[in-house]
Amino acid sequence: MKLKDKVAIVTGGAMGIGEATARMLAAEGACVVIADIADSVAKKVVADISATKGQAAQVHVDVRNPDEIEAMFTLAIERFAGVDILINNAGVALAKSSTDTTLEEWERVIGINLTGAWLCAKIAIPHIVRRGGGAIVNVASNAGLVGFPNLAAYCASKGGMVQLTKAMALDCAKLNIRVNAVCPGHTRTPMGDGFIAAQSNPETFVKEFVNVKHPIGRMAEADEVARTILFLASDDASFVTGAILAVDGGYTAQ
Ligand code: NAD
Repeated sequence: MKLKDKVAIVTGGAMGIGEATARMLAAEGACVVIADIADSVAKKVVADISATKGQAAQVHVDVRNPDEIEAMFTLAIERFAGVDILINNAGVALAKSSTDTTLEEWERVIGINLTGAWLCAKIAIPHIVRRGGGAIVNVASNAGLVGFPNLAAYCASKGGMVQLTKAMALDCAKLNIRVNAVCPGHTRTPMGDGFIAAQSNPETFVKEFVNVKHPIGRMAEADEVARTILFLASDDASFVTGAILAVDGGYTAQ
């Protein structure tokens, strides 16, 4: 039980990497708040965790909405007495080039992926300080480390998240809050599957792009990313802060 007596918030915890992370943190003893816009799916994850004697709660949060973020922390404090860990995982993709992206689309992607993560972390910090310290893990992307065609706003949001992680780690070092990021490669989730399905020839895309570009020769499973998030959130990573950890099967090692 790596997270006994800890309270963790997972944004975007209803599906994909967030869901796998919420389940894993709960299995390691954390009380988990699943914060998502997909209420009914989040409730199902909470029910599953509760059925296995874990502790979890669901709250409706759009990470662009400061009032809903405040309410998320209020719920965590009322239900579980505080917050030790924030997993900034909520995110959206947009398969468009820089010239095809509209201002509205740009603001949506940056608003959820980057501004939302900053806002949740900013509001989390005084709460985590009251517990004597803790950890923030940002779920960035290999698209925050290298460029991809037709993914301009997404790359910009994730690159911003990488730099935000380093800056916040320095701001928070003396507060005993560690701030780190994971940069997953292509991962089997609703978002990852949707990206494949949107290709003109999905099967060829997996064989000739996904499996070739990731030197390990396949995409990631959500649990493989969740295990890395668990490491960074736990005391196993007690001297790790400001780290940008690629979980990409070697994609960015090339
Ligand atoms: P997903 O689409 O499968 O799940 C994302 C979750 O975020 C959903 O539950 C969704 O309802 C929630 N969400 C979306 N907008 C939200 C908002 N405004 N407020 C609160 N919740 C919101 O995605 P995933 O693949 O599990 O991705 C999780 C994170 O990992 C994202 O930040 C994504 O950019 C990143 N990532 C994914 C991959 C991949 O290949 N799947 C690769 C690298 C990084």
